[in-house]
Amino acid sequence: MHYELYMSAALAEAAAAAASGERADGAVAVLDEAMVAHGREQIDATGDPTAHAVIVALRETARRLGHRSLSGLTVFAVVEPCAMCVGALLQSDADGLVYALADPSEGACGSAVQLANADGLTRHLRVVSGILQAEAAELRPDLATSRGVAVRGAISGAAVAR
Ligand SMILES: [Zn+2]
Repeated sequence: MHYELYMSAALAEAAAAAASGERADGAVAVLDEAMVAHGREQIDATGDPTAHAVIVALRETARRLGHRSLSGLTVFAVVEPCAMCVGALLQSDADGLVYALADPSEGACGSAVQLANADGLTRHLRVVSGILQAEAAELRPDLATSRGVAVRGAISGAAVAR
């Protein structure tokens, strides 16, 4: 899995979102080492409060693949997804999530709440965080921490072979 390549593509989506006046967040969906969909935050452009980057990417993936079960999918997102987005990843049967920056106020992979690997749920996500964190922090200074880039490549859940 080419973590930094895919995260670079997600960062490009986030930069494009920022350029059009949205929050800087982007995502790419990867299946069998191929990027099958891209997404960027589109809340203002669409007037849809659910148009987060991960949701946009999941909808595009399902449309392109022609089915709703996205087993085997790994989604790369610049920012730790919110509860809605993690819920959508679980409901879509996605396997993995990789993000660059934690979101202390909304992140649902352990920062604000832990939904990605909750004991009470039957579905779980394999989560990798901290990929290209410094680059992401430049796009989202609101989420940059005083720890800077000290946390890189932290892995939770099942181990992932690079
Ligand atoms: Zn979200």
